[in-house]
Amino acid sequence: MATTIQNTPAAPHFPEQVTGMYILARALKNVGIENVYGLVGIPITEAAYIIQGQGIRFIGFRHEQQAGMAAATEGFLTKKPGVLMTVSSLGFMNGLTATANATVNCYPMIQISGASDPTMVDMNMGTYEQLDQYNTAKPLVKAAFRCSKAEDIPSAVARAYRAAVSGRPGGVYIDMTTPALGQIMNREDAEKLFYTPVDVYSPVAPNPASVQRAVEVLTSAKHPAILLGKGAAYAQVDDKIKTLIEKYNIPYLPMSMAKGLMPDAGPLSALSCRSTIMEQADVVMIIGARLNWMLAFGKGKWNPDMKFIQLDIEAQEVDVNRPIAAPVVGDLGLALDAILAELDGKTMATDPAWVPSLQTETKAKDAKFAQRIEEARDMMPMHHWTALGVIKPIIESNPDVILINEGANTLDDTRDAVNMTLPRHRVDCATWAIMGMGIGSSIGAAVATGKSVVAIEGDSAFGFSGMDFSTICRFKLPVTVCIFNNGGIYNGIGENLSKDGDPAPTTLDVKARYDKLGDAFGAKTYYVTTPAELSQALTEAIASKQPCLIDVQLAADSGKESGHIGYLNPAPLIDIVV
Ligand code: ADP
Ligand code: MG
Repeated sequence: MATTIQNTPAAPHFPEQVTGMYILARALKNVGIENVYGLVGIPITEAAYIIQGQGIRFIGFRHEQQAGMAAATEGFLTKKPGVLMTVSSLGFMNGLTATANATVNCYPMIQISGASDPTMVDMNMGTYEQLDQYNTAKPLVKAAFRCSKAEDIPSAVARAYRAAVSGRPGGVYIDMTTPALGQIMNREDAEKLFYTPVDVYSPVAPNPASVQRAVEVLTSAKHPAILLGKGAAYAQVDDKIKTLIEKYNIPYLPMSMAKGLMPDAGPLSALSCRSTIMEQADVVMIIGARLNWMLAFGKGKWNPDMKFIQLDIEAQEVDVNRPIAAPVVGDLGLALDAILAELDGKTMATDPAWVPSLQTETKAKDAKFAQRIEEARDMMPMHHWTALGVIKPIIESNPDVILINEGANTLDDTRDAVNMTLPRHRVDCATWAIMGMGIGSSIGAAVATGKSVVAIEGDSAFGFSGMDFSTICRFKLPVTVCIFNNGGIYNGIGENLSKDGDPAPTTLDVKARYDKLGDAFGAKTYYVTTPAELSQALTEAIASKQPCLIDVQLAADSGKESGHIGYLNPAPLIDIVV
C-alpha cells in the first residue's frame, strides 16, 4: 500500500528573543534582590519597567543620591546589598556620592548605571552623556564591573553581590552599557546564563592563636570595656555580644549606630562614661568599630598604656592610628564563637570596684542630663533640648521605630538624648558625617523592614533631600519627618558681614513653613510651636503609619557651631576673613 507523503513544509521556528534589559531584571531576581531604588531616564527606563514586571519593587526617587542612601540603608539593615539604578552621566555621578559613602561606611550596595557605548567614550567621540563612568567609579568602590555584552550581565550581578557582602562590605559598581542593555539574545541561550552563586557570604574564621591571645589580654584586665561599632550591629550577632558582655560583666560603650545593640540604659552601659572609659580602662575590646576621628584616633584622652583587642573582618584595619595588642581578624560571628569557647571556664581579673564606679558615674551624669532637659522645658520659642525633652519619651516608648538622624546640633543632641533598646534601629550620617542622607535613608529603612520610621532632621540637613519627601508620599511609607527649624546651619543668628544685605553663610529661613511642603504631596502635616503640640503631633504621626511631616519651630538662637570637631574648623579664621 502506498504511503502518502505529507508535502507541506514545517512551520518556521522563530526562537523567542529577549533583551539585555530582561536579562538584567532576571539576574537581579535570581540572586534574590527584592527592591531597586533609582531614577529612570535614558537608557534604563525600560529596564525599570521590566524589573517591576519581574516582581521586584522599583522605588522611583526625585534625586539619585537619595535613592543611593536608601539602597545603602537597606544594605546596613538587612545584610543584603541594596541596589541603586541610575542613568548615565549626571545621574551616575549623583548616585555615586551615595555609593562612595556606602563604601566608606561598610554598607553593602550595588550601583548599576546605564552607560554610553565604551568604544565611543574611549575614542572621545562626544557621544550622548559621554563619561568614563567605570574609571570614575573605580577608586570609590570595592569592586567594579563593566558589561559590554548581555552575556556578561548575570555573572556581573552575581559577582557584584558577592563583592558587596563578603569580607568588609561596601559599594560595588556595574557599568551597564547601552550595547549590553539593548542586545537581543535567544531566550533559550539567555536562560543558560543564570546561576545561583554558592556560599556568597562565606564567613572566614579567625586564627586560633589570635583568639587565645585576645582572651589572655581580656582576662588579665582590671578595667575592661567593650567598644561596639556599627560593624557589630551590621553583623547581626546580637546574642553572642550579649552573652560576652553579661556573662563576663564587661561594660560597653556603643558608637552612634551601635546604640541599642545592647540597651543604652542597661546596667552595664557606659554610654555616659565615655571619657572615663578612654582614660581609665586598661583593656578595650573593639568590636566592629574603627579608631578614626570619631574616637580621637585612639590618642589624646585615651590611656597611653591601654591594650586594645580588635575584632574586625578587615586585616588592614589593625594598627591604624594605634598599635593593637590583640587583633582578631575574621568574621564577627565566628570570632565571638571562638572567644566565648576559649573563655569558658576562665575568670576575669576585673577590679570589683570598676563596674560599680561606672554605674555611680552614669547615675550622676543621667541626673545632670535630666536637669538639662528640665531647664529647657519651658523655653519659648523652643530650643533643641525643649523639643528633645518631648521626643525622647515618645521614641523610647516606641522602641521598634527606626530612628534616622542628621544635622549638626540636631544630630549631636538627639543621639545623646534618645536611648535605643533594639539593634539596628538608628541610622545616621555616620563615618563621613555627611548631610543629605536622611530622607533616602528613611525610605530605605521603611521599604527594607516594613517598620515605622522617624527622621529627626536639622533644617539645613533636610534641605539636601527635601524633595524626596514626595517619594515617601507616593509610596505611602510609614515615615514621620521632624524638621528642627532654627533657621540655619548650626543656628539662625549668623552675623551678616555682607555689604549688600545678603544673608549670612549659615542663615536659612527660620520662618519657613516646611509643613506646607508636606501639604503639597498629601502628607499629614503639623506646624508645632510648643512642647504640648509637638507631643500630640508626634504621637499621632507614629500611630498613623502614614507619611507625616512635623515642622518643629525652634528659636533662631538655639544651637551652636558643632563643638566636637572644633579643631577642623578653627574659629580664628573668621577674624582673618574680616
Ligand atoms: P563605627 O562608625 O560605629 O565606629 P565603623 O564603620 O567605623 O563603625 O567600623 C565598622 C568596622 O566593622 C569596620 O572596620 C568593618 O571592617 C567591620 N565589620 C563590618 N562587618 C563585619 C563583620 N561581619 N565581622 C567583623 N567585622 C566587621
Ligand atoms: Mg538648623
